[in-house]
Amino acid sequence: MKVLKFGGTSVGSPERMKAVARLISDGQRKIVVLSAMSGTTNSLVEIADYAKKRNTESAGAMVGHLRSAYKKHLPALYATDAAKKACENFFREEFISLQRLVSGDYDEATEKTILAQGEILSTHMLTFYLQELGVKVRLMPALDYMRTDADGEPMLSPIHEYWTRLLAEDTETEVFLTQGFICRNAQGEIDNLQRGGSDYTASLIGAAMHLEEIQIWTDIDGMHNNDPRFVEGTRPVRQLHFEEAAELAYFGAKILHPTCIQPARYAGVPVRLLNNMEPEAHGTLINNTMQPGVIKAVAAKDNITAIKVVSSRMLLATGFLRHIFDIFARYKTSIDMVATSEVGVSLSIDNASRLTPIVEELKKVGTVEVDQDMCIICVVGDLVRENKGFIGRITSAFADVAIRMVSYGGSNHNVSFLVRQDDKQKALQALSDALFNDNHS
Ligand code: ADP
Ligand code: ASP
Ligand code: MG
Repeated sequence: MKVLKFGGTSVGSPERMKAVARLISDGQRKIVVLSAMSGTTNSLVEIADYAKKRNTESAGAMVGHLRSAYKKHLPALYATDAAKKACENFFREEFISLQRLVSGDYDEATEKTILAQGEILSTHMLTFYLQELGVKVRLMPALDYMRTDADGEPMLSPIHEYWTRLLAEDTETEVFLTQGFICRNAQGEIDNLQRGGSDYTASLIGAAMHLEEIQIWTDIDGMHNNDPRFVEGTRPVRQLHFEEAAELAYFGAKILHPTCIQPARYAGVPVRLLNNMEPEAHGTLINNTMQPGVIKAVAAKDNITAIKVVSSRMLLATGFLRHIFDIFARYKTSIDMVATSEVGVSLSIDNASRLTPIVEELKKVGTVEVDQDMCIICVVGDLVRENKGFIGRITSAFADVAIRMVSYGGSNHNVSFLVRQDDKQKALQALSDALFNDNHS
């Protein structure tokens, strides 16, 4: 059995939903995870924002707009009056409760409940459509089995217990439909797995149930060898090792949520990235195979801040780095890249919300220099040191780009460069030209 996840664009219109319905009603039993229709979670974030500022009028007006937009989908999606009526009744209840939420008392739980409605809407819409087609479908609420613990980490055992019992009891259903992204936290309140987290839902289900494959269906034919939003002529990568995929997702390849590879990897369940506009295309298979000596892809992570601390006290001293790292740890700020010399250390962070107190503390140790608006360019592949020559090929692409930091050797799969955000596109394009567009790879 497989789990298939369809993202926001895959269910972004009645036409796209119908295409998903065609894909998933092939007679095979499966679990299907859906995101909200594209744009909906962003609208819900705005609605929650108005509600937070006690601007109930604007929040209410936006709920009204959303309701009208959803109502317009009814005639396009359903052929029968019965299905239209069923969905209309559901919308009525749903939007009344959303109106109630935005006009009542506001707390964090309210915000999370508002954000959860996009997935609840899309899964109900598709369920009514599949029922209309006569497909044996059951809608399984993610809030019944997707839970996070006191540290905010998703728990595999409730998923395992829930789906094991369900699949044993129900041998008839063809499509088990469920919501991505949403969950309950340790207090039992509605919560979520962070923006883009539907990929994570699918991966957690696939891992907890040791399924045959986790399929992430989206609007592109797999992981490309560079970011198609910034570089021309990118091509799909047919296969990636789990580690390579995790690095690419973490360093900005938006096609995959950064958290989604680890559960699959630990459970040994392959992940396949597929294109719902071109279902026959090979896509990208992510598994435990490493292709020797191949550079696979490049990705970029934005909004990075670089911090350099120079201190003569570092010379021949022990415990200096530990002291620096402790400061970042105390402010719960994780470090992406590190470069050291005898008298200084450079670090990069992507969450600069605690930058001011961190810099204040660092100033007690040495001279501090901060560079904002930086970007990490990450090259991923089989980069073990025995593969001589690849560093030369990679760095040749940076002939016209100022490099602020380099990190290599932290893993066998990644070499990272810190450059100015303004140079990102130039660097990405040059890397594609040097690594992929002249048949080196
Ligand atoms: P979904 O809504 O299905 O979750 P996303 O928008 O989150 O889809 O992810 C798909 C998008 O990721 C693609 O449309 C593409 O623009 C972007 N993307 C960024 N980097 C890559 C890459 N290396 N390979 C493929 N897609 C990428
Ligand atoms: N709907 C959520 C979001 O937009 C989750 C997802 O699409 O994966 O972030
Ligand atoms: Mg996504």
